Amino acid sequence: MKCDKCNREAVIYQKYSGMHLCSLHEIADVERKIKRRMRKERMAKPGDHIAVAMSGGKDSAVTLSILIDTFTTRSNIKFSAITVDEGIEGYRNESIPFAKELCDRLGVPHYVVSFKEEIGHTLDDILSRERKEASCTYCGVFRRTLLNRKAREIGANKLATGHNLDDEAQVVLLNVMNGDVERLARLRPSRAQEGLIPRIKPLIDVPEKEIALYAFLKKLPFYMGECPYTSESFRGEIKDMLNDFEARHPGTKYSVLSGFENMIDCLKEKYPQVPLAKCEVCGEPGIQGVCQACKLKKRVRID
Ligand code: SF4
Repeated sequence: MKCDKCNREAVIYQKYSGMHLCSLHEIADVERKIKRRMRKERMAKPGDHIAVAMSGGKDSAVTLSILIDTFTTRSNIKFSAITVDEGIEGYRNESIPFAKELCDRLGVPHYVVSFKEEIGHTLDDILSRERKEASCTYCGVFRRTLLNRKAREIGANKLATGHNLDDEAQVVLLNVMNGDVERLARLRPSRAQEGLIPRIKPLIDVPEKEIALYAFLKKLPFYMGECPYTSESFRGEIKDMLNDFEARHPGTKYSVLSGFENMIDCLKEKYPQVPLAKCEVCGEPGIQGVCQACKLKKRVRID
């Protein structure tokens, strides 16, 4: 197949757009979508210090690489990368060297914080205990806390994550299927909250498959392994369902995202942003008296 924009060999067929694209036009298309989102949400401005949450996988590799490429001439935007080592044997220890390699290549300071050092236990250890919640709940809550704390410590004023279109559509559906509309409204906070570093998600208009292709075409170092706990999650089922719908009805993931974005103003009106308080135990920002991380620690008896 030939590219619909030139005569080169196509590397992808975008079912949702009906376009065959060669490597050059696919790279341009991915970058266009990411830059459009960054402009639309005014994600970066002079004087910013943006910390990128860096797992060593394709999404964070593309996030860091594109941010650096885009703002390379604006020396007044500073970048750092933070990797959280959850302590997942055979997975995170394998991905961290890829994160380090890319940061070294791009000249970006790289910080690694671990569950073991900050919480006292690896995720593997926590999950081996008697517990009620799914593995990703512990992992996600503790990881968000550590990322936020480290970003604050190094003076970052924004935290960029590598959520792609698939991730964002999954989270929207997950909250709908859990009936948690308030959490859905919190996906797009109206304003910054004290102690909580605002998050930016530049990749949410690009399907996961195309992020992987982009990383491959740009020869970025990234880890391809999968977390051993993925299969435990409800979100994994939603991912399969969405992929199935996307295959039969191309454009479904974009529709979920745009449907959500069309509703967001109504959601925010119904569920206005609540001011955060300091956790009574650790001092980190949280909605109620004791933050989610401290509650979880107590539940698995590691407080
Ligand atoms: Fe953590 Fe779940 Fe992601 Fe594994 S799949 S890294 S347990 S959030």
